[in-house]
Amino acid sequence: MICETKKKLALAAVAIALGGGMVSAQKKGADYPIQPVDFTQVHVHDNFWMPKMELNANVTIPYVLDKVKTTGRIDNFLRAAKKIPGDKLTTYTFDDTDIYKVIEGASYALQVKPDPKLERYLDTLIAVIADAQEPDGYLFTFRTINPAKPHEWVGTKRWEKEEDLSHELYNSGHLYEAAVAHYKATGKKSLLNIATKNADLLVRDFGFGKEERYPGHQVVEMGLARLYRSTGKKEYLDLAKFFLDVRGPRPGQRPNEYGQAHKKVVDQHEAVGHAVRATYMYAGMADVAALTGDKSYLTAIDHIWADVVNKKMYLTGGIGATGAGEAFGAAYQLPNMSAYAETCASIANVYWNNRMFQLHGDARYIDVLERTLYNGLLSGLSLNGQQFFYPNPLASMGQHPRRDWYDCACCISNMTRFLPSLPGYVYAQNNNDLYVNLFMSNTGKIQLPVTAVNIKQETEYPWQGTVAMTIDPAKEAQFALKVRVPGWALGKPVPGDLYQFTSKQNKPVMMTLNGKPVAYTMEKGYAVVNRKWKKGDKVQVHFPMETQKVLAHQSVKDDNGRFALQRGPLVYTLEWADNKDSSVQNILIDKAAPVQAQFRNDLLGGVMVLNTTGVGAKRQVNSDALIKTSQPVTAIPYFSWANRGTGEMMVWIPYEESAAKPKPAPTIASTSKVSASVTSKTMLLALNDQAEPANSNDHANLYFHWWPKKNSLEWVQYDFDSEKTVSESSIYWFDDAPFGGTRVPASWRILYKSGNEWLPVKTTTQYEVAKDRYNTVKFEPVKTTAMKLEVQLPENHASGIHEWKLK
Ligand SMILES: [Zn+2]
Repeated sequence: MICETKKKLALAAVAIALGGGMVSAQKKGADYPIQPVDFTQVHVHDNFWMPKMELNANVTIPYVLDKVKTTGRIDNFLRAAKKIPGDKLTTYTFDDTDIYKVIEGASYALQVKPDPKLERYLDTLIAVIADAQEPDGYLFTFRTINPAKPHEWVGTKRWEKEEDLSHELYNSGHLYEAAVAHYKATGKKSLLNIATKNADLLVRDFGFGKEERYPGHQVVEMGLARLYRSTGKKEYLDLAKFFLDVRGPRPGQRPNEYGQAHKKVVDQHEAVGHAVRATYMYAGMADVAALTGDKSYLTAIDHIWADVVNKKMYLTGGIGATGAGEAFGAAYQLPNMSAYAETCASIANVYWNNRMFQLHGDARYIDVLERTLYNGLLSGLSLNGQQFFYPNPLASMGQHPRRDWYDCACCISNMTRFLPSLPGYVYAQNNNDLYVNLFMSNTGKIQLPVTAVNIKQETEYPWQGTVAMTIDPAKEAQFALKVRVPGWALGKPVPGDLYQFTSKQNKPVMMTLNGKPVAYTMEKGYAVVNRKWKKGDKVQVHFPMETQKVLAHQSVKDDNGRFALQRGPLVYTLEWADNKDSSVQNILIDKAAPVQAQFRNDLLGGVMVLNTTGVGAKRQVNSDALIKTSQPVTAIPYFSWANRGTGEMMVWIPYEESAAKPKPAPTIASTSKVSASVTSKTMLLALNDQAEPANSNDHANLYFHWWPKKNSLEWVQYDFDSEKTVSESSIYWFDDAPFGGTRVPASWRILYKSGNEWLPVKTTTQYEVAKDRYNTVKFEPVKTTAMKLEVQLPENHASGIHEWKLK
C-alpha cells in the first residue's frame, strides 16, 4: 500500500523536478543509463494489444505493401534504376520513406512471428532499392529519375533545397531506421549496406567547412544514432551532432521557427513549429546527449518538455494544435474540433518520452507516453486495420471520416512500424534495477548483471487495474523491482497543472508479495521492492481504476465550462452512434453526475463504456431560454471513435450552459437541404448549424470553403420543404488571411427560384464583404422553395462561409 506521506513526497518530487528543469542523467558508458528490454524478449499475449498487433501484421502491413505498389511508390525506385522507362514521379518528395517504414514494420513483425514469404518479398524490395542507389551512395529517387528535371521541391544540385522541402535527409533517416530493424530481424546486411553506403556519403558531404545545411525535416539524427549503435562507426554520431549544431539563425534570413532553426538548438526552450519535425528533433537531441554526454542538449529538452506538458498537449497526448504549418500553437491554444494532433506527432511523442525516461528514470515520462499511446496514437488506426486518421481532433460535427489512404501517407506507414515495436516499451533495466513501465499480459526475459529473470504479467489492463506478476530469476538474487505507479492512480493525470481530476483519488494503490502486503519505497513514481528474489515470487499490484472527470487549466479557453471523462489510462468521448438522436454536441452533464462503467462485448470489438445521465439542450425561436430534456448518455474510449461512420463526437463535455452547443431552433436555414459547388459534402454542415463564430478566422468553428479554387463563380443553395417568404439574408464570411488561402469574395448575390428559373432578389440594402460580423442584405420579399447564393471568388484566393441565415 502507498501511504499518504509517501504519496505526498512522490508528488513533491515531481513538482520540484518540473520547476527546476533539472538534469539528472549521468554519463554511463556511452549511452542511455537506462536501457529498454528489446521487444524480441517480450511476448505480449493480452486481449487488448495482441489483437491489434496481429491485425497490423496480417492486415495493415500487407495492405500498405500493396498500396506502395499501386500508388507508384515502387515505380519511383524502378525508374531511378532504369528498370522501367519514363520520368513520372509520385506526389511528394518523401514518398520513398513509406517503403522504408513499412519494411521497418514488417521486420519487427518478422521477429515476433516468422513469415518466410514476407521475408522473401522484403528481399525483392531491397534489391529494387539497391538498384536505385547511385554509385556513390546517393539514394533519392526524386532526383535520380531525371536530375535535369527533378520535382519542384528539389534543387538543381544535391542538397540545395534540403533546408526547404527536398526531404533528401528525411529519406535517409527512415532508410537507416529500416535498415537496422531489418538487420536485427533477419541477420541480413542487404539493407544495412545500402544505408551505410548512403551514410558514408553524408559524412563526406556534410560538416562544418563542407555542406553546412540542416535537415529540413528532422529524423536523420535519430537514424544516424541508431546506425552508430549498430555499426560502432563514430562518424555517424558526429554527423548526427553536426545536424543539430548547424541549426540556428542565418544572417539575412527570416528566423525559421517552423523548422526549429530560429535559434541554436541548445538555446531553444519552447516547443515551436511543425510538431513532427520538432519532436523528432527533441528525440534526436536526447540520443546525442545520451551518446556524447553533452548536457547542454538536455537542459534544452527538459525545458521544452515542461513547455509541452504544461501548455501544449491535448488530454489525448496529441500535440500540434494547428493545421497551419502542422504546428504547435501558442501556450494553452488547444482547440478541439480543429485540433491537428497528427498521428505521426503522437508516435514522435512516444519516442521522445521514452528517451526522456531513459535519461531521467522518472515515471512521469511514461505517464505521458502511456496517455499518448492509448489515446491520440491508437486513434490513428481503425478497428479494421485499413482506415486511418492523419489529424486526430477532439470534437466533430461529422466532417472527419477515416480514410483508406492519404496521398501524404506518413501517418499510415508510421503506424505499421510503431505497433509491432510496442513490446519494447514494457520493461527497462539499469544495472540491477528492473523497471516495469507498461501493463499488458506478457512474458519477458531480462538479463540483469546479477541473474537472468523471466517475468510474467497477467492483467485485464486497460479495463481493470489489477496486475499479477510472476518473477522467476534463474537463481536467487538481489535486485530492485521498480513498478511504475501511473500518475492517474495517484490522482494526477499529467505531470504539471494542465489537467486535473475534479475529485481526489481516495482509494489506495495496493501491492502484495506472495499474498502479503509488501513494504516498498516510492522513487520517481515507481514502487520499488529491493530484495532477494527467488523463483515463483508473485507480486500483485492493484491500481484503483475509478472513472474520473478531468478539468483543463482555465487558460485553455476551448475547454472552459467543460470536463472530460477518463478511466485508467483511457480518455473517453461521446459519439453519435451511442446517444439520442445521433447528437452529442448538444449534451450537458452535471459535474457531479455519477458514472457507471460497463464492459460491452458487443461494441467496437469489446470496450468498457461509461454510462451516465445528462440533458439534451435545444434552442427555441423567439427566446434565449434553452429547452433541456434529461437523457441517458454513453461514452466510449476515444481511440475507438469513427469506426461506425461519421457523425458528432465530443471529448470535452459542457457542464455549464455557456459552454453548451444546443441544437438549433428550427429556422428556414436549419430545416433546409444544403447543396453547393464543392465535392466535399461534409462541409455543408457548417452553413446552417447555428454555431456562432468568434471571428472570420475562427478555425474552431465549423466552416465551409471553396479552397483550393480561385477566380471562379461558385454557389451554395438552400432547398425548402415547402414554399417560404424570405426578405433577408445574413452571411458570416470565413477568411483566414494572412496565412491561409481564403478571403472574402470579390462579389456575391442572392437568387431565388421562380418556377424553373433563378432570379436575383431586388435588394434594398448593399451586398457587403465585411469580416468578423454578419453581412446582412434586405430585399423585396420573395415566395420561393429555394434560395441560392452566388459567389465570385477573388482572383488569387478562395472564399468561405461560417454561417448563412435567412429570414
Ligand atoms: Zn503523419
